[in-house]
Amino acid sequence: MNIDTHSVMYITKRPELVFTEGQGSWLTDHQGKKYLDFLQGWAVNCLGHSNPGMIAALEKQARKIINPSPAFYNEPMIKLADLLTSNSCFDKVFFANSGAEANEGAIKLARKWGKLHKNGAYEIITFNHGFHGRTIATMSASGKDGWDTMYAPQVPGFPKAELNDIESVKKLINDKTVGVMLEPVQGEGGVIPSDHEFMRQLRQLTKEKNILLMVDEVQTGCGRTGKLFGHQLYNITPDIMTLGKGIGGGVPLAALLATDAVACFEPGDQGGTYNGNPLMTAVGCSVIEQLLAPGFLDEVIAKGAYLRELLLDISQEFGFEGERGEGLLRALKLNRDIGPEIVERARNLEPIGLLLNSPRPNLLRFMPALNISREELKKMAEMLKGILKEMQ
Ligand SMILES: *Cc1c(COP(=O)(O)O)cnc(C)c1O
Repeated sequence: MNIDTHSVMYITKRPELVFTEGQGSWLTDHQGKKYLDFLQGWAVNCLGHSNPGMIAALEKQARKIINPSPAFYNEPMIKLADLLTSNSCFDKVFFANSGAEANEGAIKLARKWGKLHKNGAYEIITFNHGFHGRTIATMSASGKDGWDTMYAPQVPGFPKAELNDIESVKKLINDKTVGVMLEPVQGEGGVIPSDHEFMRQLRQLTKEKNILLMVDEVQTGCGRTGKLFGHQLYNITPDIMTLGKGIGGGVPLAALLATDAVACFEPGDQGGTYNGNPLMTAVGCSVIEQLLAPGFLDEVIAKGAYLRELLLDISQEFGFEGERGEGLLRALKLNRDIGPEIVERARNLEPIGLLLNSPRPNLLRFMPALNISREELKKMAEMLKGILKEMQ
């Protein structure tokens, strides 16, 4: 590649490619090669690349006002907050710029609530293999192997339980406990859904103990699971929810939502320079309105079922261990550590490449645009089969 990248800080191994254009489920690189995109900016571009509604909202808002200051109200901020509360069990919204920042806000809100109502309780029970972001506090809340020592010392107050094991949660509850935080489906951990029974028990337990149930829906929110929010799969109402990724459809936007009973911030407790800026919240309005269009989420469920069929078919043909997931967040369980090799081969396919993700070496994760077509899903399955045949 004749592109000199030496000024870009090295934080991850990137392929020698520069992406220059995107349209729907397709990306184009600097040499004009096209790729079918099953990453979509890490489950971010829920409406695919360059969605016309988002572009129109961005353009229109940019001409009106970009940033009056977080100290003032603006129209898109109010409209998006209304859209989110009128379509969920929550009453109040605080906007942020990344999932990690929204989760930081959730942690602060829970600790504040603990100060006011639980005698200063501050511990939030989180889960092994959970992922909540890359700030120091959210890394401490995450249950990723190795993260406890990476930037030690950690922020204290995040004891770890096991997902789908209610006894492991019960054991950790004490006078200092203020809440339990989890992803309804662990995303980075390898697409591991919470059991329905576990979620029901967790809601009952947290109510009984008067502690908060906090759902990190940065990955599972905004239609990804076929419901507007992942916890709705379980018929439970949490006290706090965070959104990120899909809510901006690709632009930096995130949100912290809480019920009236929990939304206890006072002036000076929380803020941020770009929080609730109209440019991003205008895009968020376009995204949520498109997700709420009649039939859209039903289609996500139908396409999720179709993707499941395609993956089960591949699993059977190549002797894998099946698949799991909800809606259009799914994983194929390979029974060998061939994930990274498949990802590499898929990207290098000619003349058209395929972008896949392997969050664990024995797993492939699929997080396509929610408006992907059945033809594109089928095309991915055919390309993947071709690669697997080559590898046999
Ligand atoms: C991606 C993710 C985050 C972090 O979001 P950023 O925008 O990268 O800070 C937090 N929680 C979950 C569940 C995620 O998937």
